[in-house]
Amino acid sequence: MAISLFYLILFILSIIAECILLQKIANRRASYYVALFTLISVVCLAYFAYSISLDTGMALVANQFSYLDGTFVMMFFIFCILDICNIKVTKWFAFPMTGIGLFFLGLAFTAGYNTLFYKEVKHSTYAGSAHLQMEFGPFYTPYVIYVVIMMLIPIGLVIYSSFNKRKISYKYTLALGGLLVAIVAMYFVESSVGLGFDILPSGYVLMEYVILAVIHRLGLYDISQMAVNVSENSKDYGCVVFDTQKCYVGANKTALFYFPELNELDIDREVSNLWIKEEFVNWIDEFDDGKNVSKRYDRNGRSLRCTIKPYVFGKNVAKSYGYIVEIWDDTEQQKLISRLNEMNDELAQALDSANSANSAKSQFLANMSHEIRTPINAVLGMNEIAIRECKDDSLIPYMEDIREAGHNLLTIINDILDFSKIEAGKIDIIEDNYELGKLITDVVNLVDVKVKDKGLELIVKADESLPSVLYGDANRLRQVMVNLLNNAVKYTHEGSVELNISANYIDEEQIGLNIVIRDTGVGIKKDDLDKLFESFSRVDEKNNKNIEGTGLGLSIVNGLIELMHGNIKVESEYGKGSTFSVCIPQRVIDKNALGELRRWHKVKKEVIQHIDATGVNILIVDDTRLNLTVAKGLLKPTKANVTVCASGAECLELLKKQSFDLIFMDHMMPDMDGIETLHNARELPGISLDNTIFIALTANAITGIRDMYLREGFDDYLSKPINPKEMEDIIQTYCLGE
Ligand code: ADP
Repeated sequence: MAISLFYLILFILSIIAECILLQKIANRRASYYVALFTLISVVCLAYFAYSISLDTGMALVANQFSYLDGTFVMMFFIFCILDICNIKVTKWFAFPMTGIGLFFLGLAFTAGYNTLFYKEVKHSTYAGSAHLQMEFGPFYTPYVIYVVIMMLIPIGLVIYSSFNKRKISYKYTLALGGLLVAIVAMYFVESSVGLGFDILPSGYVLMEYVILAVIHRLGLYDISQMAVNVSENSKDYGCVVFDTQKCYVGANKTALFYFPELNELDIDREVSNLWIKEEFVNWIDEFDDGKNVSKRYDRNGRSLRCTIKPYVFGKNVAKSYGYIVEIWDDTEQQKLISRLNEMNDELAQALDSANSANSAKSQFLANMSHEIRTPINAVLGMNEIAIRECKDDSLIPYMEDIREAGHNLLTIINDILDFSKIEAGKIDIIEDNYELGKLITDVVNLVDVKVKDKGLELIVKADESLPSVLYGDANRLRQVMVNLLNNAVKYTHEGSVELNISANYIDEEQIGLNIVIRDTGVGIKKDDLDKLFESFSRVDEKNNKNIEGTGLGLSIVNGLIELMHGNIKVESEYGKGSTFSVCIPQRVIDKNALGELRRWHKVKKEVIQHIDATGVNILIVDDTRLNLTVAKGLLKPTKANVTVCASGAECLELLKKQSFDLIFMDHMMPDMDGIETLHNARELPGISLDNTIFIALTANAITGIRDMYLREGFDDYLSKPINPKEMEDIIQTYCLGE
């Protein structure tokens, strides 16, 4: 008895294990089928054992096992049909069913011990097969009623499904229902007609094959299954399934929510709703034609992205069982994207207005500095004339102060102009061959006086093996070096300023020109190093407040170096000095060594030896009266015959009456500018200008401008503010001979 109890407990434990397994495994539906098929096999085996049983005991045991059919085979069959009908098997249904099944199975298995199920059994044979004759106990009839109910449930389900063809593939439920009717019929035929043997097992096996047939056509079943799974797994993800014939197979809840038109469709039938036909079925046609595009729909206030893909089953990717339209709710992303786009637009607008504000600022600075240049030109020119003509020596120092202040102002104006051009991206790097030695000497000459004036030592070291001729923008390079050297001088009170030129790298074609400017000055605090190249920013203002500056120099230097593809580094020790290291790539033209630098010298007071241009007829054309006065005054010592006029038109009139040896022509004039005037002059009928030299006068002092004027027909150009020496040199060259 104890051993039997032990086995019984084992049995119960194993049933519990199976229940747990059914709860746990992911594809619970598949497990219904596995359980059903396993039970049918056991039942068939039981019928077999029953048929070959030799005595009552053996037959009874086999008979007891065969009761698995009325209990659990039917139960799992119902589960399967529920599943096919898309009805969830809840535990409220599954647990009582299992309980009742176990109860009747328990009765059957204790048949030899009590008379509840069988009152009496007797072993016999019928048609060569073992057979039990039995007298039924009081619980047998309830069992029969239970079995009948178990059979009626699927029939009810089939009827239900026939009314719900929008939800259920009723073809299959009908097939299973038919089978069920056949089994019920078998049951009753067998028990009423008394065939003498059970034909029910054949019904069960038939059941297996009908289910297999359904499963075989089941691409369909699986896809709809998948749709259901998906609906359980995700709310955002909808899917609509069509079979290979583009018949509707099913859709999950999410899809039905967004596309209620789907509710009108019959499962396994052609799509009847026009909208779905046009939107989805035609789309599938296009998909078949190789177009794979996603679609967007706005439904129920959500933004949906729909994609289409073939439904492949398991590993066999070659075979498609149909199509799945997937529906993704990406409203939040769309909102983010459109917000992002809005923000981009706003940013672009902000950038636009910042840019236009910036270019307005740059334009303003450029205009302003140009406007200031003109009067400064007059001030410096007039001052120059005053110095020359002044008879009272005591006034000269004042005038020299005006000259110095004027030049300082000019430097600031030039800086502003450069800065605004760099900001506006309007600065061009104009490259040409240049002699490195001359460049260095020029630079040194420019700063030498200042260094000496401050009582500092100027140390110049240039690697003698450097190539003598390079290709690059010598003017901009000079500007960078002078700027850094001027700063070094400005911010050093004692000690030295050093300029060191060497090669960072050099090969056949290129050199990385290293320019190091070192000073023993006030130095820069570590925290300030980052701010150094910001425009308009001056650092350590408290200590440097007596030193003039705009805070533009280094940002211009930085901008120019960037344009020349170089880099600049600063090292500094506060209170001890700073080192600015610049490296700029330049092309090597002549590899011959630079050699020793020529001595540089600066004559403190240039004594101009004026030329004698007696008899030379000069015309000056400029729309600014002051400029005319300056130019005329500057030419006074040359004794040339100077005529002035204030416009292109006047110039043309003069040319008709008189011939000139040399004409200084302002470029920027209202109405007819200098270039137009020149072109028109050359067209004047009957007037030969073969012996007239045209010199462009321009405030446009950038390198390369000379070529432009030569192309336009000028013989040369002179930049403003006019350098008297250069002006006289031009007259000397073109009118008096070298
Ligand atoms: P600024 O016109 O004021 O000289 P810069 O742009 O040339 O403008 O320089 C910016 C700041 O960097 C200066 O105000 C100064 O504080 C600092 N600076 C530049 N060069 C040196 C140097 N050689 N030694 C110490 N400080 C320097």
